[in-house]
Amino acid sequence: MTGLAAVLVAVATLATASASGPAGQGSTGPGQAATPGASTRGGQQEPAAAGRAGADGAGDGYYPTDGNGGYDVASYQVSISYDPADGHLDGDTTVTARATEALSRFNLDLSGLTVRSVEVDGRPAAFDRTGRHELMITPAGPIGRDTTFSVRVRYDGKPTLFGESGLGSGGWFANSGAAIAAGEPHSATAWYPANDTPADKATFALTARVPDGWSVVSNGIDEAPTSSGGWTTFRWRLRDPVATYLTTVAVGRWRLVRSRLADGTPVVNAYAPSADRSQEHGERLPEILQFLSGKFGPYPFEAAGGIFLGTGLGFALELQTRPVYPPVGGPEIIVHELAHQWFGNSVTVRRWADICLNECLASYAQWLWREAKDGADLDQHYREQVGRVDFGSRLYDMGAGNEFRGVYTKGPVAIHALRRQIGDAAFDTVLTGWPRRHANGNASWPDFESFVEERSGQQLDGFFDAWFRGTQRPADEYLWPGGLRP
Ligand SMILES: [Zn+2]
Repeated sequence: MTGLAAVLVAVATLATASASGPAGQGSTGPGQAATPGASTRGGQQEPAAAGRAGADGAGDGYYPTDGNGGYDVASYQVSISYDPADGHLDGDTTVTARATEALSRFNLDLSGLTVRSVEVDGRPAAFDRTGRHELMITPAGPIGRDTTFSVRVRYDGKPTLFGESGLGSGGWFANSGAAIAAGEPHSATAWYPANDTPADKATFALTARVPDGWSVVSNGIDEAPTSSGGWTTFRWRLRDPVATYLTTVAVGRWRLVRSRLADGTPVVNAYAPSADRSQEHGERLPEILQFLSGKFGPYPFEAAGGIFLGTGLGFALELQTRPVYPPVGGPEIIVHELAHQWFGNSVTVRRWADICLNECLASYAQWLWREAKDGADLDQHYREQVGRVDFGSRLYDMGAGNEFRGVYTKGPVAIHALRRQIGDAAFDTVLTGWPRRHANGNASWPDFESFVEERSGQQLDGFFDAWFRGTQRPADEYLWPGGLRP
């Protein structure tokens, strides 16, 4: 994610979270709006005799009810019909997962919308809605540990935006019929039921049906659309696992520009009708990916591209393989979002406390770009920033709502200090080795600290404490390593 508005996203999300209270207390979050009363439909069975209820959260202290416990999702097959005329969405999503414990009941996360039916392995299941986004599902019989099971949810309604206004919100953005799902940390639950935690990555396939004349862009690779009865169906899929907040559906009147990278990787850039001025920057995508591959190693995914909007969301977001951009003023925003394909998307945070893994590194990619393309003197730039930057934000475990506060400004300054502390040779092996070590996985900031110590052969506790856990200007020994002292 990039932009001043990223701060607003975090603030808006926090405000929503604290206003609605903990799950299970009948609070009136968006999850309640479409399902008045406590409804349990679809099954009449007794409580299961074996197994227990999966947790209603995945264990992230910042967002305790995000995600769920008791299973590990393998794939999402999301199927929607969307009518831009009235903003109505019909959804039919199948989640395939493996139980990590014996389950009598488990949750998915879904915000708003009306659930019509739930089936587990083809049999009707009972369900209920609680809290902001909990969909509690009780299958006809318990699910054994290590069993793979599928959950089919049919639902409909008008997807919503979380937060007060378009700027800095997340969820479903709709504008004159066009619509896009985007937002960090929350967006997926606006349009499909999910285990909404970055810690549970899964493959993703979308089938989306819209009236003829409209088109749909999403993540990954597409198939040729098919038309029937005045509606056109688009299909997109990601073969590599993805965190839910990096998935999207974008309904619009897209102009698609297709090309290929030098290695054959297909590129799809989608331009909104009023986004023509972004095209000159979008066309630099192969050059930017070649530059980043030279720094971070091979591009991690099977497809590339971007979604270029005519109006702003208040942020850009690194959606997997195909980031979304507000009207683009230059290449650096593209450098940032594409750097996330390595730092954030292939290697994903375990918890939101680890967000510096994404944003500090993607922001530093912009410094690397300036160094290579503009001949910028980064040491000089660093010295200027040291006199300007606010040291008061923690870069690791900054607290819910503060995730995006220091990572764009203090973050790249800290990474440059790290580069001078360990030297270019070690720094280069960190940049290429880290994405390889955790490709298509999850990792934490402490994992990164250990990795840097391993690659550099240096004991860096003092350095990391001063820069990433501290809230003050680091002591001189950490502020001016490796010849940085003016
Ligand atoms: Zn970012």
